[in-house]
Parts: sequence; structure tokens; C-alpha cells
Amino acid sequence: MIDADTVIARLREADARSGGRRLAWTETWANERARLDAIAEDASDAVMVERDAFANAWYVLPGETDETVLVGSHSDSVPDGGWLDGMLGVHAGLGVLAAVAAGGRTPKRTLAVVDWADEEGTRFGRSLLGSAAATGALTGEELDRLRAHDGTPAREVTAAYGFDANALGTRSGRLRSVVAAVELHIEQGPTLERTGREVAAVAGCLGVRRSRITFEGEPGHAGTIAMPDRHDPVRTAAAFVTELFALAEQEDGFATTGEIEAEPAFVTAVPQRCRISLDMRHADARALDRLSTSARKLLEAGRCPASVTELHRQDPVHFDAGLIDAAVQASDGGPPLTSGPLHDSASLALAGIRTVMLFTSSKSGVSHCRDEDTPEAHLRRGLLALHRLIVTLLEPART
Ligand SMILES: [Zn+2]
Repeated sequence: MIDADTVIARLREADARSGGRRLAWTETWANERARLDAIAEDASDAVMVERDAFANAWYVLPGETDETVLVGSHSDSVPDGGWLDGMLGVHAGLGVLAAVAAGGRTPKRTLAVVDWADEEGTRFGRSLLGSAAATGALTGEELDRLRAHDGTPAREVTAAYGFDANALGTRSGRLRSVVAAVELHIEQGPTLERTGREVAAVAGCLGVRRSRITFEGEPGHAGTIAMPDRHDPVRTAAAFVTELFALAEQEDGFATTGEIEAEPAFVTAVPQRCRISLDMRHADARALDRLSTSARKLLEAGRCPASVTELHRQDPVHFDAGLIDAAVQASDGGPPLTSGPLHDSASLALAGIRTVMLFTSSKSGVSHCRDEDTPEAHLRRGLLALHRLIVTLLEPART
């Protein structure tokens, strides 16, 4: 059985050492990864520690066949991140690997634990960098557009950690043998806690449409232009956001405006322009399309003209139906969740690899901050569920 005490203790030690500052492509991150290497090597002499061409760490316990069951997540964090986001899935995977190795019998299928490089995208603004590179989804041209805040090219920063940009565009070697992939992660939202659940299967990730919208108005003095005569871009933007958010609520989706800028920005001016971001998410692609159409019509009907720059477009990700059933059985038997955030598992599912996730609850639904937490009892349930599911998958006759 998986040693949950050890896994949880390792997570707390890693957090104490790194203080939630395991930013990808830094020394702190590399040091934690060296510790992961040592833990994997300690698990069994049979374990192979490897880096693929894209700085992803692979810990492989060979089975009777090359068919591989992958369990992975990410050890990098956002600045001042929590102790569980990503790291839970990596240490959990190594805990499962140790338990399987300790069983003394070579599993039918090969087990690979993977620590994907740079899931968070903190340095270059591109999430899922390592997993997207491994599936062939990240191109050399896209990498060449990415730069750190200080202007250093991503190609240069990542090369120092063994990332080979010349290998981009093809699927990373070991990934070709993967027949099933599983990731244990914290929910990072309030649903499980609100419904009194500890661990659940995840059916997929929400689709995303993200854009920046600029409303062009006519500037003026706050005390001279009569309200009916104004072409106030803030007023048009506010009306747009209010109406669109109501539609998103009716559709049971999400709409978020996280950035609002007026220009010029001072208290006595009707601004000339107003720039906002818009992030819309939904589990159903048709609902996302309806919201996009509504947004376009609202913009066309607005008093101030608007221009739209698309930032990111991702259709909903659906995990494998058979694996979802297995994950439901291994967890609490309840209905599967849909993830609001994207995960490395989305990269794998989009590449046609059979994938599923498990979520444990998040206290108060918070993540990406030092307050991120999960009750230890829920973590234990999650670790047991992951172990149960992986053991099932290592026996092909039963999947
Ligand atoms: Zn994560």
C-alpha cells in the first residue's frame, strides 16, 4: 500500500525548503528536482531516472511490456505558491512507484512517473510548456516568440536546463508507449468542499476563449459634456461586461474581466479609450460559441466601437470515458468534476492519449497562494485512490 505519511511529509519538507518559490528554470526548482531523482533512485534499483529532450523528468519502473502507464504532474510553482499545486501529483506518483516496486513482482505494464517542466508558465506566460513540447504541440516558432520579463529568449533560458528546441515538433520517445495517463491534483476550487466530498474523478477541462477588447470613445471634461452626448468607452465597456456576465450565468459558464484600463486615466476626464480582458470558459463548446456570438453582437451594438484581439482559444478537453469510469470507482463513486484550470493532462488528452485526473478538495477553494491547503485525511484518500487506479491499469486484462 502507498505510504501516505511519507508522501505528505515529503510535500511539507519540499515546501519548507522552497517556500513556494519553485519557479521553473531556477536553481530552487532544479534543486527540488534533484531530490525527486534521489527519491526515485531510492525506491528500487530497477528504476531509471531520465530527462527527455524537453527537460521533463521521467522515473521509469520497467514492466513485462513497454506499454506504459504514466502518472505525472509538475514540481514548479507560481511565485509564493502553495505546497500542493502540482507537487502533490509528483510525490504521489513516486509514492505509488515505491509501493509497486516494493510489491516485489514486475508489473505487466511499465510505470512512468513524470515531472513536467514549467506547467505554470510563470516565466514566459506560456502554460504547460514541457507537456506541450513532449506531445509535439509546441513549435519552434512559438518558442522563439517567448521571452522572460527581462527580455531573455525562452530558448536561451530553457537550454541551460537541457531543453533541446531542435527536437520540437515530434512526440517525445517514451510518450509513444503510453497507454494511459493519470494525474492527481488539488481541485483549486470550492466544489468538493461545498458538497462534502474528499476526492473525485475529473471528466475534462473547460474550454477557454480569451481576448483583449479596446473601446474607442471621445475624451472630454467630467463637468462639461452632458451625459446623453458622451461617447464614454468606460460606460460602453461596463454595459458590455454587465450584459455578457448575465448571459454567462444563464449558460452556467464563466466570464471574467481581470484587466480594466482607462486612457487617459485621471479623475476629471471622460477617457478616450478603455481596454479590458475577457476570459470565457465552459464545458460545452457550443455554449462557448453562443457566448462568443453574443459578445460580438453586444460589441457591435455598443455606443463606442470596439476592436478585439484574441489571446487564447482552447476547446473543452474530454478525458477518456473508460478511464473516467475507473477513476470514479477508485475515488468516491460520485459524479466526475470538470476542471476550470488547465493541466498537463489536457496536453496529453489533446494529443490523443487516454487520460484522466483525480482531484482532492481545496480548503476554501483557494490556490496559487500560501494559504492553499487540503485536509490531510482528504490527501490520504486521494493517494489511496491514485494507487488503486494505477494498480488496476498496470494489469491490462482488467482495463
Ligand atoms: Zn498545477
